[in-house]
Amino acid sequence: MKENHINERNISIRDVRVNLRNITNCICRKCPSYPGMLRELAHAEAPGLYCAHGKSRLDIEKKGCICSECVVHKEHYLDSAYYCAHAKV
Ligand code: SF4
Ligand code: SF4
Repeated sequence: MKENHINERNISIRDVRVNLRNITNCICRKCPSYPGMLRELAHAEAPGLYCAHGKSRLDIEKKGCICSECVVHKEHYLDSAYYCAHAKV
C-alpha cells in the first residue's frame, strides 16, 4: 500500500473498484460540475466513478463537488473531491 493512502483521520483509504455497486452508487451524474454523459462517452472509457477511473479527459469547469455525499466516498474512507478534475493520489 502507498504511504499517502491515509486520510486526514488516519484511516487507510481503500482503492475504489470498478464494479456494478460502485458504478450504481456514484452520484457524479447529479453534480453541477459533471460534464455530461454524452460528452464523456465521446471522450472517455467510462463516464463517472472518477475516484476509481481517474480524472476525466475533458476540461472540468468546477461548479461544486458532491463526492462527500456519496456512498462510495464513505465506504472507502475517501477524503478528497473533484476526482473528475485531478489525477488520482
Ligand atoms: S466519490 Fe465522487 S467520483 Fe467517486 S463514486 Fe462518489 S460521486 Fe463518483
Ligand atoms: S468527481 Fe466530484 S466534482 Fe466531479 S463530477 Fe463527481 S461529484 Fe462532481
